[in-house]
Amino acid sequence: MDRYGVMGNPVAHSRSPWIHHRFAQLTGQDLRYERLLVPLDGFARAVQDWREQGGLGCNVTVPFKFEAAALAGAQLTERAQLAGACNTLCFEAEGGLRADNTDGIGLVRDITLQAGVVLAGRRVLLVGAGGAGAGVLGPLLQAQPASLTLTNRSPAKADALAARHAPVARRHGVLLRACGIDALDRGYDIVINATASSLGGADSPVPASVLREGALACDLMYGPSAQPFLDWAARHGAVPRDGLGMLVEQAAESFALWRGVRPPAGQVLRELRAALAAGTA
Ligand code: NDP
Repeated sequence: MDRYGVMGNPVAHSRSPWIHHRFAQLTGQDLRYERLLVPLDGFARAVQDWREQGGLGCNVTVPFKFEAAALAGAQLTERAQLAGACNTLCFEAEGGLRADNTDGIGLVRDITLQAGVVLAGRRVLLVGAGGAGAGVLGPLLQAQPASLTLTNRSPAKADALAARHAPVARRHGVLLRACGIDALDRGYDIVINATASSLGGADSPVPASVLREGALACDLMYGPSAQPFLDWAARHGAVPRDGLGMLVEQAAESFALWRGVRPPAGQVLRELRAALAAGTA
């Protein structure tokens, strides 16, 4: 049976095996997908071992996405290069490797296809310049919003990330700017929280004035930790959305890269939500 997995530390909480097994059932693919707990100092070795054990590829999650990009070197796709991080490895013949980042396209597909919200021509606020912010910025720009404002608790990181993406923004005609949280405008159409602020129990890292009435407010987190942000958004007249759809869509993109078949992400997202609510996933 073809073998894939997700490498991380910790990894026990990962829903990826559930998602990929369901994709496989629905597309008639024969594969096994495993959780691969990797020692913090052993990522490169673990990739080599997985390959030698017959693995055909893997996803990469916290904290190894940057190390995966460094390991892949010149074999990174353009979007992974821009992100400086990688979440999907495809092992190819004769030791070849293709390394990609599907997080950003996963978020864009969730917003546009699952939530049904148009990105083109809108005013977007992206909060967070860590690994997740870096992963989603390029694909968000490619979706051609009118403007994209990037902010972060540590403003220098937002400045650096925006500078790296300036050519992509220009190519797609997007007004890209980075600014401190205290310099944000009011009333964005789409607000994306790509920070880990919810982990500390905070509701939002930005003031409610950034939300226009009916704005889409996404937190990349899902599960109970996302709830304070979602409640905050709803309280201020926005439409809240958690990161579960992004999780399923980034997995669908990885699955399509490995297997050449696009699984029905919308169906699997609905099923996963139901299974989580019932405590069976
Ligand atoms: P990183 O550790 O790389 O970055 C953390 C980011 O959060 C930084 O921008 C940091 O700001 C900011 N931050 C942390 N705490 C606070 C706070 N209290 N207030 C304001 N900003 C804060 O993490 P990642 O970028 O990898 O992950 C961010 C989130 O995205 C995680 O919660 C993760 O679960 C989620 N995620 C979801 C995915 C999905 O498929 N749904 C995929 C990938 C990530 P500073 O630079 O100032 O430290």
